[in-house]
Amino acid sequence: MAASGGYNYRDATTQRGSVKVDRPLSVNSNPKSSVKSKPLVPPRRNSTGSVAGGGAGAASKDNTGVPGRVRVAVRLRPRNSDEMVLDADFADIVELQPELKRLKLRRNNWDLDTYEFDEVLTEFASQKRVYEVVAKPVVESVLEGYNGTVMAYGQTGTGKTYTLGRLGEEDTAARGIMVRAMEDILADVSLDSDSLSVSYLQLYMETIHDLLDPANDSISIVEDPKTGDVSLPGASLVEIRDHKSFVELLRLGEAHRFATNTKLNTESSRSHAILMVHVKKSVKGRDSALSSQNVNNSHTVKSLKPPVVRKSKLVVVDLAGSERIDKSGSEGHTLEEAKSINLSLSALGKCINALAENSSHIPVRDSKLTRLLRDSFGGTARTSLVVTIGPSPRHRGETASTIMFGQRAMKVENMLKLKEEFDYKSLSRRLDIQLDKLIAEHERQQKAFEDEIERIATEAQNQMSEVEKNYEDALEKERLKYQKDYMESIKKLEEQLVMNQPKHDFEKVTNGPKDDGSNVTSSKEICKLHVEEIDDLRKLLQRETSLRKAAEEESNNLKSQLTQWKRSEAAANSEISKLRKMLEDEAHQKEKLEVEIAALHSQLLQMSFDADETSRQLDKSGPGKVGGLDSLMTQVRHLQLNDSGNEDKASIAKIFEQVGLQKILSLLEAEDNDVRIHAVKVVANLAAEEANQEKIVEAGGLTSLLMLLKTSEDETIHRVAAGAIANLAMNETNQELIMNQGGISLLSMTAANGEDPQTLRMVAGAIANLCGNDKLQSKLRAEGGIKALLGMVRCGHPDVLAQVARGIANFAKCESRASTQGTKNGKSLLIEDGALSWIVQNANNEASPIRRHIELALCHLAQHETNAKDMISGGALWELVRISRDCSREDIRTLAYRTLTSSPTFQGELRRLRINN
Ligand code: ADP
Ligand code: MG
Repeated sequence: MAASGGYNYRDATTQRGSVKVDRPLSVNSNPKSSVKSKPLVPPRRNSTGSVAGGGAGAASKDNTGVPGRVRVAVRLRPRNSDEMVLDADFADIVELQPELKRLKLRRNNWDLDTYEFDEVLTEFASQKRVYEVVAKPVVESVLEGYNGTVMAYGQTGTGKTYTLGRLGEEDTAARGIMVRAMEDILADVSLDSDSLSVSYLQLYMETIHDLLDPANDSISIVEDPKTGDVSLPGASLVEIRDHKSFVELLRLGEAHRFATNTKLNTESSRSHAILMVHVKKSVKGRDSALSSQNVNNSHTVKSLKPPVVRKSKLVVVDLAGSERIDKSGSEGHTLEEAKSINLSLSALGKCINALAENSSHIPVRDSKLTRLLRDSFGGTARTSLVVTIGPSPRHRGETASTIMFGQRAMKVENMLKLKEEFDYKSLSRRLDIQLDKLIAEHERQQKAFEDEIERIATEAQNQMSEVEKNYEDALEKERLKYQKDYMESIKKLEEQLVMNQPKHDFEKVTNGPKDDGSNVTSSKEICKLHVEEIDDLRKLLQRETSLRKAAEEESNNLKSQLTQWKRSEAAANSEISKLRKMLEDEAHQKEKLEVEIAALHSQLLQMSFDADETSRQLDKSGPGKVGGLDSLMTQVRHLQLNDSGNEDKASIAKIFEQVGLQKILSLLEAEDNDVRIHAVKVVANLAAEEANQEKIVEAGGLTSLLMLLKTSEDETIHRVAAGAIANLAMNETNQELIMNQGGISLLSMTAANGEDPQTLRMVAGAIANLCGNDKLQSKLRAEGGIKALLGMVRCGHPDVLAQVARGIANFAKCESRASTQGTKNGKSLLIEDGALSWIVQNANNEASPIRRHIELALCHLAQHETNAKDMISGGALWELVRISRDCSREDIRTLAYRTLTSSPTFQGELRRLRINN
């Protein structure tokens, strides 16, 4: 890549070693010209050959930046037709030695000044070659994720616009840098996943005009205080899909520039044109510097790895003509206008001078141009400058000053930085989509189950009612049939009875009571008739009986059918309850997934928070801030929440609401250490809010946190858990709970094993809080609390010492109170535990938080005569005398004085030493 055009971004050391600059004598005679005779390429911190293209990419994988000096090429315009005539009798004032990268400027007929550039482009240099040596390495860097700047500087008419802005529609070979750069960019990006957009602006008299929307003429510059990135939120940003649309846009911009200049009554040579190409590329995991740095944790996180994007920017600047403005007003400007027109360009010159001279103040804020280009000079962008000059001796002065500008710009060192960031938005979008899909799928399943259940229920119902109806019908039919049969038989019997009756009567009448043979015969017949009749009846009865049996059978049949139906209904019911159970399982599963998603959300939040904090710490410069005096709470919050903490706090509160405290606490016992770390951080954040503390303790959070101190071996967990405990320990009820759950020995153990000063600070802070509880004094001491505090001074970190001192002061205060109330007698437990020598050693510590606490502790100890002897032998008397005289806080000074004067032992000793107090 670096070889693309032979624009070898040569390294200074090579150059100095191999090229001996052949200087004309006259150079030495002029002390002012020392600039040009110095090593022409400023020294660089690393000596990797080319930094163009791949070089930067490889070196910056750790994202700390690589040095990249501003590269400067000089381009000579051929004589134009006027010059052919006017300068016919004169030689060109410059002579180029492109192979040596040198330019000689004629001073007079016999003197030449020699200058060296990164590249020297003769009047024959093709536009393609100019692009390849000046701009291509910058474009390649932009495609790799660095910001880039290509800028042209020179007198009006020397070819700045020719070099940068030619569209080359009539002649492809004439295409300038803007068009060629966009061709290369479009060939490299994939518009499915990447994006490309363009702004095009003009800066004139400190006003920025939008060349893509002429109505928009007051665009302001916004600087991100964190990253220093500048942006122009008011400028139109047009998405580029293909080359044609870009050329169209340039043409439109050019037309608007012309119209604006006519309106403002100025020439385009007086304004600066700025093209900004924003490239956003997504990066494959292993190519990304960020993802190899941060996201290496567990498999759960892997699927949630936020995509990485590189958002870089190519800025192409066609500057206003560098010639001085005629302040006489001949161009129709007032003096004020002339000043304003010149402001940006002269401010740029001043900044470049200041950067070239490594000056401590760079006047970036003096003009809009320098604010816009702050990343290009002395910033993080790869910058390439082409200075354009003409050959005419009539413009010697302007040509010389252009060359000097280029020479100074060559000394500006940038520190290239990869513009890579996690694309949290797209991750969040992805998660949202996943969640929505799950929710929709779940809803669909639920609906399907419900439909199925309903269907089975109605089917069962229908079958039931059909069976019932069938049964009823059959019964009714039977009943009717029996009834009918019965009626018929009754009817028949009645008929027979009626038939038999007259016969009987007649016989009675005709035969009378007498008895003869004929009578016998007829009686026999009657008998026979009766027998027949009885037979008939018997048959009838038999038939009836068999019919009844059949009906009974039928009824039994129906009954068994009914039981069968009932059985199948029961089966359907059990099927229904099975489906219900499945539905419940589904709901349960969904709930679990939601919890997991929320936890992952919290991890994401924590990651973004960590990233923020890292960048904030990187941003923080100098030793400006010293920790606050005493509120541990503030310190813990500082540790865990950054300046934009409100947002995070809100999100944590949201997680808290969504996930529920119990679930967060259960994550403290997760198997995965990363999950535990995230969970304990969330709990610590919650514990920093007084409103949450009671809930956390009630839900068993305190016990879990103490447990973590015991079971975990991870220093981060120790640090964060101790911080959370310290927060909880601000409340009196919690202090007792902590003590009762063996907190002191756990904190002591953590203190003994901890190495990170921040862990020790948290532990010391927690013990210091406990020290302030009157009821816990002797238990705290008996369980080694004071020894643990004193043990932590080994670390020497002022923050830790401040907490130790605070603990001692708290303890001494409670003791003093107890002694005054008569509930304690005898020597101070602090003195018994050997704290005095440390107290005396640090009584005049230069860190005021440490000193103040110790001063107070000394005053408290001195209030009781039982301590006086030890204090004298331990050297504390001297410190008390000093405090009573020199302490800057009046209240402490007075307290020390009163304590000294009211103690007979101290007074005696002072008298013995002949010291007046
Ligand atoms: P500037 O933008 O610096 O004021 P221009 O780019 O407008 O200068 O160039 C002034 C004139 O010189 C234009 O007519 C342009 O075509 C011509 N010109 C500039 N550079 C070259 C070059 N390298 N070869 C041929 N013509 C050039
Ligand atoms: Mg121009």
